[in-house]
Amino acid sequence: MKIKIMHLYPDLLNLYGDRGNIECLRRRLLWRGIDAEVVTHTCDDPEFDISDTDIVFLGGGSDREQKIVCSRLLGHKKELQSHVENGGSLVAVCGGYQLLGKYYKLHDETIEGLDILDIYTEQGKDRLIGNIVLKADFINSEIVGFENHGGRTYIGSHTPLGRVVYGYGNSDDAGVEGVVYKNVVATYLHGPLLPKNPELCDHILTNALKNRYEEFTELAPLDDELENTANRYIVNRFTKKG
Ligand code: GLN
Repeated sequence: MKIKIMHLYPDLLNLYGDRGNIECLRRRLLWRGIDAEVVTHTCDDPEFDISDTDIVFLGGGSDREQKIVCSRLLGHKKELQSHVENGGSLVAVCGGYQLLGKYYKLHDETIEGLDILDIYTEQGKDRLIGNIVLKADFINSEIVGFENHGGRTYIGSHTPLGRVVYGYGNSDDAGVEGVVYKNVVATYLHGPLLPKNPELCDHILTNALKNRYEEFTELAPLDDELENTANRYIVNRFTKKG
């Protein structure tokens, strides 16, 4: 078995080392004897081909970088939409998450989005920064991470990634964070999202493997004692009183 991961624009969207998430996806496949191929698509690549890709990763970036990426990706909207509608996996972080919506309205201009999700983002007065803890329905452990965004994302009737236990989330007081849609996981949680949340990483890998191999049922367990201890520590630090 083999999974192909495409990192889109790592030259522009790689805030806080979002790239570590790619390494986590790759390693957790290899540790189970499943091949992983990682390819990148940068600004210098003339060809855009995601036709045989299982997992597309879109990281976070500043408004300026986001604008450049968006103008390029709009030309590939159809390919990205059909990847998602056909069950392909897409992990989008912060700036990448905002780009999946209809638009991102800044104070002085509006960036058109890819319209893959029926959501929109508006820049707020200040930035929402800090540690964040979520509870998602589809995994047992809490999702922990760090958020830093000026945009507030309004997700309409989409299913959120999780309920906010600590932190901000999609907007100042929405109480929810991110979006899950088909095999899309879109979130404001930056940096080492997947190393900090191995269960979420395995959820993404399982979906990708099921989409590629009809006969695939479940991943072999790994020894995640260290990862889970770190995850519990953060959950306790921010959510337990006294
Ligand atoms: N530019 C976006 C915002 O500030 C996303 C930033 C980011 O990816 N951290 O809302």
